Amino acid sequence: MNIAVIGTGYVGLVTGGCLAQLGMNVTCMDIDKEKIEKLKSGIIPIYEPGLEEIITENLRTERLIFTTSIEEAVAKAKVIFIAVGTPPNEDDSADLKYVYQAARDIAEHMEDYKVIVDKSTVPIGTGHLVKKEIESILQKRNKGFAFDVVSNPEFLREGTAVKDFLKPERIVIGAESEASLNLMKKVYDVQIQLDIPIVETNIETAEMIKYAANAFLAVKISYINEIANMCDLCNADISVVSKAMGLDSRIGPKFLSPGPGYGGSCFPKDTKALIKIGKDLGYLPKIIESTVDVNDNQPMIMVEKIKSIMGSLADKTITILGIAFKPETDDIREAPAINIMKSLLEGGAKIKAFDPEAMENTKKIHPDLDIQYCEDIYSACQNSDCIVLVTEWKDFLSLNFIELKSIVRTPTFVDLRNAYMPSSVENLGFLYKGVGRK
Ligand code: NAD
Repeated sequence: MNIAVIGTGYVGLVTGGCLAQLGMNVTCMDIDKEKIEKLKSGIIPIYEPGLEEIITENLRTERLIFTTSIEEAVAKAKVIFIAVGTPPNEDDSADLKYVYQAARDIAEHMEDYKVIVDKSTVPIGTGHLVKKEIESILQKRNKGFAFDVVSNPEFLREGTAVKDFLKPERIVIGAESEASLNLMKKVYDVQIQLDIPIVETNIETAEMIKYAANAFLAVKISYINEIANMCDLCNADISVVSKAMGLDSRIGPKFLSPGPGYGGSCFPKDTKALIKIGKDLGYLPKIIESTVDVNDNQPMIMVEKIKSIMGSLADKTITILGIAFKPETDDIREAPAINIMKSLLEGGAKIKAFDPEAMENTKKIHPDLDIQYCEDIYSACQNSDCIVLVTEWKDFLSLNFIELKSIVRTPTFVDLRNAYMPSSVENLGFLYKGVGRK
């Protein structure tokens, strides 16, 4: 099977690499020349566990090819995935210019039947608009090729993306023809053999599933954050509350850990886009609106927590452990650490920060942030007045508090991920503050 993937970001690169790993011939195309040059020589522009090995192996066997030529990508492929970004517009709607551009580029170069698969997260109805764009270009070219548009939203999580792609919990295929559905089932044959559920539906339903799933997870996070914020104001402990809630099989234990709020390239933009979709349909999705409000406020509640312990921030040194929006990624898009650091800096604090993978991105995207980037945990904690654990990287889960006590100025530990037992940190001489915890 010959496949093309348009866009080599977090989703496109994982999709291309994994499909090659499953035995398909994949051409990955991007308009970013620098990225493609790097990829051709085996340099992976993002941090994603397991991806480098897959890309290296499949480059070697030539099952995976990188190019900036849309013509080359389209020529050989029967199935073409669009995996370009859909960032937010000013009015919170998804900006579809990259999706439509990719669709037009495909239409300009196709010479036979193609299945064009929308993997990007796009508003309900986009698949049909993509179809119209392609039709109008084919008309202008005076070509009558048949083609199908399919919606196949992606549910991978950064940090475990390779595993999630190869062994997802479900595969959603929104298709309008038997031919395109059957081709998609061939693409996912290995997963089908593994009995992974396939949800076959129409294009609009597939598009809605992606937004509905992301918004639901965001609701769960904002919900538990609200409960934790209330626990902070009374004699209740969120860790026990979450555990007991999670034991109810109707609720389940996942996504019940409070923290500084959700971030990343998906939940923030997808929740806001879904509100806009609802409003455009004449319906106000109030639960999702509240979810966004709670999340927008959560980093500031964390800052207030830090201030309440430290009093004035002026000339205090605060250590930030973890900048990425979650562990095992270098992605800092909408990471709560960014707003927390901005606010602490505004309050007059000095910031020392360490993140195993996300510091380069932070320097590049936020050159204005006056942060001292450190080489490791212990240099970041040297002479610190307060250590704040923001992202629960594995390395931060076994801190040596005895050593830390000997190098900090004031032994204060703010655990925004509730990664430690309060008493175990307190017994080692630290003032401990978690989220909603006694
Ligand atoms: P990204 O920003 O990391 O990558 C997008 C890539 O598309 C960039 O490399 C860009 O240069 C390229 N591109 C833009 N226009 C192009 C064009 N016309 N032709 C070729 N390449 C083009 O984005 P991402 O994080 O991979 O997300 C892609 C889509 O997948 C989004 O809709 C996102 O919401 C969705 N999604 C993302 C995740 C995630 O965890 N990142 C998970 C599921 C779904």
